[in-house]
Amino acid sequence: MSVTSESRVLALLGDPVQHSASPRIQNAALERAGLDGVYVALRCGPDDVVGLMRGLARAGGGGNVTLPHKERAAGMLDVASDAVRRTGACNTFWGDEEGRLHGDNTDVEGFRRALRSFLPDSAGIRALLLGAGGAARAALHGLIEEGAEDILIYNRTAERARAVARRIGGRHARVATGRDDVEGQEFDLVVNATRLGLDPTDPSPLDFTLLGRVGAAMDLVYAPEPTPFLQAAGRRSVRGTDGREMLVQQAAASFELWWDVPADTAAMRAALVEPAAV
Ligand code: NAP
Repeated sequence: MSVTSESRVLALLGDPVQHSASPRIQNAALERAGLDGVYVALRCGPDDVVGLMRGLARAGGGGNVTLPHKERAAGMLDVASDAVRRTGACNTFWGDEEGRLHGDNTDVEGFRRALRSFLPDSAGIRALLLGAGGAARAALHGLIEEGAEDILIYNRTAERARAVARRIGGRHARVATGRDDVEGQEFDLVVNATRLGLDPTDPSPLDFTLLGRVGAAMDLVYAPEPTPFLQAAGRRSVRGTDGREMLVQQAAASFELWWDVPADTAAMRAALVEPAAV
């Protein structure tokens, strides 16, 4: 379907955005559903993100927010979802007929859906969560919602891990402050929510030989090749998955909030593997 004067405009707001797969993924799902909309990426700074969100929402559109604006976006919503309130981050916004700005954090739902397809029953599991940034907050909230019993958070900066545990973790989260706290420990699931792996020459964020038995490894980083974390897991014969399914599922959850119809995730996955346009 071509872009018309009626087309609903959705935009990804962030900096940088030029390598994002979101326009490919969202436009593939729009085309498949035969909806009159277009999804673009707009690089913008912190002073512009607020005005762009309000303007797009009032014009009947909406969009996604990515680094480094997710926290700022969360603070300016008129109606924030539970996931936004719990994580302090907003990655999806839209407007209503009264001109109010709504927001959600579909990284949480995307993580939950990806986790369920990888590990169908997470009730009562013991997990090790690496990282304490935005992705880790979404994963921690998602793990708790999926019934994880005990989550140990291990981050380079322990104080950040403590803050995340206090904000989101409740009785389910504890903080590891050094190698001694993880050495020999057994986990049903280890999640990498650090940035390590974005560059293929990065080291693995974890030496799996430190740990006792590990059931499965989930990397939130996505790359065409196995990430350093998944390679390290594979050397210990731990099965793993990367962040592509979470990426598709958070995009699907956003699509469903804007359009109120299910997203064709197969079309989204196919768009993700297409080479980026140059
Ligand atoms: P962020 O808020 O900047 O947090 C980065 C995290 O990585 C922090 O915990 C940081 O530790 C840690 N870190 C950075 N450099 C490190 C190093 N050299 N050694 C050890 N730890 C290091 O980023 P984010 O938004 O959480 O994103 C994290 C990753 O998740 C990114 O790769 C992103 O692409 C991915 N992600 C994937 C999805 C998906 O849909 N699959 C969604 C969101 C994010 P400190 O606190 O010590 O700085």
